[in-house]
Amino acid sequence: MNVALTFDAEHPDQMVADPVGNAVAILDQLRSSDVQATFFVTGVWAKSYPCLVARIVEEGHLLGSHGFWHCPFGNLTHEAMRLDLERSRETLVDVSGVDPHHWFRLPQGQGVYDATIRHAVEAEGFHHVHWDSGAEDWRPGIRPLDLTRQILSAVETSQITSQVVLLHSWPEPTPNVVSSIIASLQGAHTFVRLDELRPEEVPYWATRSRQDGSDNREMVIKNES
Ligand SMILES: [Zn+2]
Repeated sequence: MNVALTFDAEHPDQMVADPVGNAVAILDQLRSSDVQATFFVTGVWAKSYPCLVARIVEEGHLLGSHGFWHCPFGNLTHEAMRLDLERSRETLVDVSGVDPHHWFRLPQGQGVYDATIRHAVEAEGFHHVHWDSGAEDWRPGIRPLDLTRQILSAVETSQITSQVVLLHSWPEPTPNVVSSIIASLQGAHTFVRLDELRPEEVPYWATRSRQDGSDNREMVIKNES
């Protein structure tokens, strides 16, 4: 199976001891294991930590947008969504020299089933990438062991050929979880960037159909890069 680790890089929405250190620890883990992943970075985070964004690119990870402010898109007008997406792209290009192309993840995943939001996002050339497992490393009190088991179980029981794992740049358990997942899966499975998956393996927008092994996604990706 192809396992795509994805990290949403954003400012924490709760107190954590060292959010930047956790991002560094994640990058260290990936580098020492020779694993490439995908980072969805907010514009604000990119402006705050340009050296980390440069490191993400230099070490071979795929860079995507996570919006500029990390404001949930359900709270934004169409024009505000457009401006947020435009500014996020410009910021990532300014900071890293790399265009995120269509790679995008909705802040908090909000709006994944909302046609108005989808149209606004696609009008700016982005497509939301959803996920198959993970996603709750931010939950207060969650234990790294429990999260690791949940992700490993999802990989082992999956009926599909790829597994997109969502983690975040700042929660304290995440570096531990990354280390355990890689140690458990490397060799038997292949870690890939999202752009190394076949287009039909990427969970663009709604993913409910993936859970039963069917696939009714109608996405056709243009301008693949
Ligand atoms: Zn986020």
